[in-house]
Amino acid sequence: MDINNHIKKVLFTEPEINERCIELASELDKEYEDKKPIMLSLLKGSVPFATMLTKHMKISLEFDYMKASSYHGTISSGNVAVTLMPSLKLENRHVVIIEDIIDTGTTLSTVTKILQDLHPASLEIVTLLDKPAMRKVNDIKPKYVGFIVPNEFVVGFGLDFNEDYRHLPYVGVLKEEMYK
Ligand code: 5GP
Ligand code: MG
Repeated sequence: MDINNHIKKVLFTEPEINERCIELASELDKEYEDKKPIMLSLLKGSVPFATMLTKHMKISLEFDYMKASSYHGTISSGNVAVTLMPSLKLENRHVVIIEDIIDTGTTLSTVTKILQDLHPASLEIVTLLDKPAMRKVNDIKPKYVGFIVPNEFVVGFGLDFNEDYRHLPYVGVLKEEMYK
C-alpha cells in the first residue's frame, strides 16, 4: 500500500536536495545576473527540481516548459518525441534547460539541436541527476549537475516508473521486484 515500501534505498533526501539547490541557484545567479534567463523545464520529470531550484534564485528570470519523451519502462528507447515546444521566443535569449536526469543523453541531444535552431544567445543544461556511465552521445555535457548517480533505476522527486512515484519527496532506488 505505502509506496515508500517499494524503495530499496533513499539516495537523496528532500533537505539534501534543497541544500544542493541553494548552491546551484547561487552559481546561476552569478552567471546570469542582468541576463534574465529563460529557465526551460522539461516536462514532467524536472518540475519539482525546477521549482526548488528557482525559488532560491534571486535574479529576474522567465519560466517556460517543453516536453520530450524517450523513455518507456526502465530502458531508454532512443526514440525522442517533442510533444510541446516552448511558448516564449528564444531567439537571442539566455536559455537554461532544466532536466531531471541525464542517462544516455539521447533526449537532451535531440532537444539541444532543436533549440539551437531557434538561435538562443546561450544554451546550458542544469540537471538534478547525472548517470555519466550510461552516456551514448558525446555532445552532452551539463554545466550544472545536482548529483552523480550510479547505474541504478531511481524514482522520486519528479522521476517516475510508469508515471508513478514522481510525488515521492526524495530520490530513491526502486526495488527490482517492482519492475521485473
Ligand atoms: P536519456 O535520453 O538521457 O537516455 O534519458 C533521459 C530520460 O530518461 C530522463 O528524462 C528520464 O525520464 C529517463 N530516465 C533515465 N534514467 C532514469 C532513471 O534512473 N529513473 C527514471 N525514473 N527515469 C530515468
Ligand atoms: Mg524525463
